[in-house]
Amino acid sequence: VPELPDVEASRRWFADHAAGRRVERVVVVDASVVRNASARGLADALRGRCFREPERLGKWLLCWTDGPGLVLHFGMTGELAAAPARSRRHRWDRVIVELDDGTEIRYRDLRKLGGAWLVLGAEDATAILGRLGPDALAVRRAEFLKLLARRRGGVKAALMDQSFVAGVGNLLADEILWRARLHPRRRVETLDAEERASLFRALRAVVRVTVERDDAGEWRRSWLNYVRGVAGARCPRCRTPLERTIVAGRTTWFCPSCQPPPPAAARERRRDPSG
Ligand SMILES: [Zn+2]
Repeated sequence: VPELPDVEASRRWFADHAAGRRVERVVVVDASVVRNASARGLADALRGRCFREPERLGKWLLCWTDGPGLVLHFGMTGELAAAPARSRRHRWDRVIVELDDGTEIRYRDLRKLGGAWLVLGAEDATAILGRLGPDALAVRRAEFLKLLARRRGGVKAALMDQSFVAGVGNLLADEILWRARLHPRRRVETLDAEERASLFRALRAVVRVTVERDDAGEWRRSWLNYVRGVAGARCPRCRTPLERTIVAGRTTWFCPSCQPPPPAAARERRRDPSG
């Protein structure tokens, strides 16, 4: 699932492959992924335009040209690929942009939960991206703490809410909470000042390190997500077997020792004779 670090990798990749290049032609293989324009409309708008430096906001990639922009969201399975012009297509290639250097940039997506949008300018882009919080890679401590102070409810749901902080998905949220030693069922309003500060430090560290990694998809060996989903996985920090549950509608991994449950949940557990 593409999260901020994956989209940031795509942004850098797009900058290397397409910035400064002219669009020869656009082939919309599957018109259903173009969300706000016709296939013809998108192709006509981009043809002859020159790509500039792309921009990333949260999990969105904004590919600006010297005219309109192409906005991409990668959903669950989207990615970018390069191929020689007019070479054999992959069956999940949805939109193909042929550049003037004889390569094609291909937006490839199996499940089509993301998509492509044509935007004429920053205002258009804002309307499509919706209300986004500050980017998780760029947010500063004071701003984060201020936004957190206004927040109520589950801390994991808050982290994954793009209008709170943009770019954090399920995996990053679990990693951040594990690192901050906060149980995923904690509620924001119960966090003390030290826990809030620790949450911010964990967010910053996890996002920065994952963005700087060399190979997409690699987690640090010492991190929760390195062993996530592995049978019998133990906490990389204390060796306690990890637990899996559902929080905010998503599969959630945590260490019951490093991330003690909130007081209410602890009482529940004591009452439960099976626990
Ligand atoms: Zn642990």
